[in-house]
Amino acid sequence: MSWLPTLIKACYFLAALLFILGLKRMSSPRTARGGIVWAGYGMLLAVLATLFLPDMHNRGLIVAAVLVGVSAAWWSGKRVAMTAMPQMVALYNGMGGGAAAAIGAVELIGYARGLGLLQAVPDTSPLRPEAWAVNGLPPALSPTELALGVLGALIGAVSFSGSLVAFAKLQGWMDKRFVFPGQRTVNLLLLAAAVVAGVLLATSHASPALIAAFFALALAFGLMMTLPIGGADMPVVISLYNAFTGLAVSFEGFVLGNEAMIIAGMVVGAAGTLLTQLMAKAMNRSIGNVLFGSFGAAGGEAQAIEGAQKPIDASDAAVMMAYAERVVIVPGYGLAVAQAQHKVWEFAQLLIKRGVKVKFAIHPVAGRMPGHMNVLLAEAGVPYDLIADMDDINPEFPATDVALVIGANDVVNPLAKTDPASPIYGMPILDVSAAKHVIVIKRGRGTGFAGIENALFYADNTRMLYGEGQAAVGELVASLKDIDA
Ligand code: NDP
Repeated sequence: MSWLPTLIKACYFLAALLFILGLKRMSSPRTARGGIVWAGYGMLLAVLATLFLPDMHNRGLIVAAVLVGVSAAWWSGKRVAMTAMPQMVALYNGMGGGAAAAIGAVELIGYARGLGLLQAVPDTSPLRPEAWAVNGLPPALSPTELALGVLGALIGAVSFSGSLVAFAKLQGWMDKRFVFPGQRTVNLLLLAAAVVAGVLLATSHASPALIAAFFALALAFGLMMTLPIGGADMPVVISLYNAFTGLAVSFEGFVLGNEAMIIAGMVVGAAGTLLTQLMAKAMNRSIGNVLFGSFGAAGGEAQAIEGAQKPIDASDAAVMMAYAERVVIVPGYGLAVAQAQHKVWEFAQLLIKRGVKVKFAIHPVAGRMPGHMNVLLAEAGVPYDLIADMDDINPEFPATDVALVIGANDVVNPLAKTDPASPIYGMPILDVSAAKHVIVIKRGRGTGFAGIENALFYADNTRMLYGEGQAAVGELVASLKDIDA
């Protein structure tokens, strides 16, 4: 069976190709679904190949664990509502970080055994079976492996506890923000202590107490780092932990000499880093601020909003748009909740038939996950050339007759530009208030994710069409059909 290791390496190579090509396909909505399936096949191949590693121990246990994981993921993946996807991503992400940290823990415990400090721990690790089988002791880790193992464990543990907090917050199980005086100092001290423990571990001081302290500090730092985060910044954090998990897996892949883990981890780490940068830019936050700021929170007195919300009924709103030259539709989280995407596209098609130029404007963080609105509009069949990004559409608002906002709030809030005391101050927004008329569909006076008032709803050129998203657009469709009849 001397060919087996070569075959396993070939499988890892193929898996890596599938990961990279799958990711490439995810860059366009047309091919994204296929991309996910390709990457999934890559992961399946990598896992199956790993099971055939020579001298692998505990195959039964591993298969049992995989079955438990697959069943939980299958069940939750089928059941999860589109609106709960961000917390799902946070949870899966945390599991990846936790797994990387667990590998680090096994390696460090094995290393401590090698130093004669933990003789009582039974030699049952399946991770590096070939060397363990030789002398019953773990293989010596090179200084680089040891350093990478410690680093991966640190990042993985932070990502694990941080992602769990993000999950609990988005699921509504935890208060959105938890802030106390001196929080930044405490966070920095925790990080510094975890790093010192890590450096000691990586320089041959492994002892059971030090290993335990190292993980406790790393987990506490992840927890404390995420607790103060609320408001509009949660997506950046989830994406950041995604990048962390990728890095952690990759580092542990180096320690285990597993190419599939190294490549998959690097791909996730790089993609997560790019996404974090993009999102931070879209929300006007620096990554340093994400790491150590109690952000999504600003001090000072909030600006008073003048005026009153002025309602409009569906038939008047339909007339305004029927005779408009240009209409821009801005979807937000409420559209996802109402599942109004099909009705909205039906309405847009009726307008287009009348000769109205219709576009859809998508803010990078509209909804509750990156690409949320793109996915919904694609599901409804909206052609990609009618969908515009924020930077492209913003200059077009002054020449737009009607901006129709459906269930969006924070991403169209002008206070982000005018009120330095606002938690979303500095976040780039869709400039809908520059349109000649604005019609906003929402159920009532509910706030958005950031929990703040929106000056747009009180503007002179804004009319509120109150109603549940799908029903309200249904009324617009009916009114438009009446005009056409
Ligand atoms: P918001 O969450 O700011 O606002 C949604 C609005 O929709 C609410 O004001 C609500 O008002 C209305 N609404 C809710 N349900 C319905 C319904 N069934 N029918 C009609 N209206 C409804 O949404 P945005 O998309 O504008 O902003 C997204 C926010 O989420 C940003 O702050 C962003 O930072 C944050 N975020 C984004 C993530 C991402 O990756 N995209 C992830 C996590 C957070 P009412 O109750 O009156 O109906």
